[in-house]
Amino acid sequence: MKGLTAPPAWTAKAKGTLDAVRAAMAANSERVFTAHWTEDAVRDLLLELVGVKCWYCETLIVRADVNVDHFRPKSEVLDVPGHPGYWWLAYDVSNYRIACKHCNSGGARYNGVPEGRAKGSQFPLLAGPRARTSLDDLEREQPLLLDPAHHGDPDLLGFDTAGYARRSNTPYSSAEADSGLCRADETIRILALNDSRIVPLRSRLMQEVGVLARFGDAPEIQALIDAKVEPQAQWSAAAATALALQRACNRPIAAPAQPATTPVVTPVLDPRRSRVDLRDLLEYLDPDDLKAGITLTGRYNRTVYQATLKSDGELDVLGRLWRTPTTAARVATGSRQIDGWDFWRLTIAGVEQTLAEFRAKHFPPATRP
Ligand SMILES: [Zn+2]
Repeated sequence: MKGLTAPPAWTAKAKGTLDAVRAAMAANSERVFTAHWTEDAVRDLLLELVGVKCWYCETLIVRADVNVDHFRPKSEVLDVPGHPGYWWLAYDVSNYRIACKHCNSGGARYNGVPEGRAKGSQFPLLAGPRARTSLDDLEREQPLLLDPAHHGDPDLLGFDTAGYARRSNTPYSSAEADSGLCRADETIRILALNDSRIVPLRSRLMQEVGVLARFGDAPEIQALIDAKVEPQAQWSAAAATALALQRACNRPIAAPAQPATTPVVTPVLDPRRSRVDLRDLLEYLDPDDLKAGITLTGRYNRTVYQATLKSDGELDVLGRLWRTPTTAARVATGSRQIDGWDFWRLTIAGVEQTLAEFRAKHFPPATRP
């Protein structure tokens, strides 16, 4: 994204508008953000990068408005009272992302129920001081939402074979561990990346790519695969995941080159994951209970919510699986701030306790990495 240059005429016009915004702020009067970002001169620049698709959910935007989202919201920041918005970035092309309506302003549904507030003016931080003026260093902010234009962020999003977006098999960062949040799960929640319409279509695409890769060596079939995984294609990241999976299955199993006494390589575990999800705690629970599903309860605003802890460590909230307790709690309650480790309670041998208390018994805070 850095390095995109808007045409000089647009830049000059945008500068004039930004100067007017700055003057309005100095005079304590209303700011007017003329929507120059919707103009073809800039939007076409962005569309040239990966075609007409949403940068967040990768859905093609065909016969619908193509929104240009401000990654850092321009006029306010939800849940940050008094923040004037990142107004100085209103006409900074590096702050623009192509977005569909559902990612930009909402409308996604899961089983008929609206979900995902969409990005809107949300810009939660995982860590770092929040920039409030143009003099502040944006690099010190660690955004919670995955940024499709930031190197490395798209790699944190993976897909399972059922077509659901998931955290990829990457270790949690120290900021994720410190906050108990998984950036991918929170992005999926906020942008409703697993809404009821998208998942079966994504799943179908992954199946198609898998079948093509299994049976196709012919150039025509390879061309079909290429068309599904190229960056301009709809849900190409999911298609690429399916292709990689199938190619791994296709690979011939090599005969052992070493004697059978070769030590087994121990898989590298993420030492931080007990601070974000439940997988390392499963061994302290009754396997039969886990197999049946352990009920967790939580109270918020005088309402009791339930989730079921499954044997793989995922939490089922109203038929939807989440790996991180905090995201599961936020999905259940609609709260954007709640901490799932303090919210969810489970009963072990007749003793009710929070997940935080349960974890502290097995991973005392002083010993956690
Ligand atoms: Zn989208």
